[in-house]
Amino acid sequence: HKPDALLKVSGLEAWYGESHILHGMDFEVAAGEVVTLLGRNGAGKTTTMKSIMGMVAKRKGSATFGGTETVGLASNRIARLGIALCPEERGIFASLNVRENMVLPPVVQEGGMSLDEVYGLFPRLLERASSQGTKLSGGEQQMLAIARILRTGAKLLLLDEPTEGLAPVIVQHIGDIIRQLKSRGFTILLVEQNFHFAATVADRHYVVEHGKVIDMIPNDQLSQSMDKLKGYLGV
Ligand code: ATP
Repeated sequence: HKPDALLKVSGLEAWYGESHILHGMDFEVAAGEVVTLLGRNGAGKTTTMKSIMGMVAKRKGSATFGGTETVGLASNRIARLGIALCPEERGIFASLNVRENMVLPPVVQEGGMSLDEVYGLFPRLLERASSQGTKLSGGEQQMLAIARILRTGAKLLLLDEPTEGLAPVIVQHIGDIIRQLKSRGFTILLVEQNFHFAATVADRHYVVEHGKVIDMIPNDQLSQSMDKLKGYLGV
């Protein structure tokens, strides 16, 4: 085990009511890494993200961030440690415009990006600053969702299927953004269905099945592991 894991998840379990969804997740993400969770629909990837964020009430085991245990903490406390989740449904306020959406989230700690910095990263959002949330394309919504979490100053970004439903050229743009964020020192945990995309941004991949990590594949071994991976994913 690397001693410098920023996020260390061990034996993490989670339940929705009586449904036992996570059965002991084990994985870690070092500072500055981009790591994916790959797996079939329903494997528990989103639940893992939500559990790390404290958004699943019933959880057991351990998920430490910078050495601080998050299991048992409320989600607002976890956010203040420096973790932010960009949910699959993106969480844009439809009735607000782009600028208002970005001003709204509380800047939870030092180092949150200013509006100018965010517009520097996403020039398209500056062009669309007065457009209402409902008027944005899928790609613009995804950029706005990422922009909002960058405003919080979080160091660990949990991105849940950021490329879902987006046109290939926009997917490439999201990839550029993720690589830029990595070069700025952000640590990123990414849920992806699209392993071709995952291969263009990530350092390592964890395969999730039935609420457990069943394999870890370094990105530089992905091409020789393709048959195995396709077996896991059933594609
Ligand atoms: P997907 O890509 O489909 O989102 P996933 O790997 O992210 O897949 P989860 O969304 O974590 O999977 O779902 C894991 C399991 O938990 C599924 O069986 C799902 O039906 C169940 N589940 C998810 N959300 C809830 C909920 N709010 N209440 C009850 N069960 C849920």
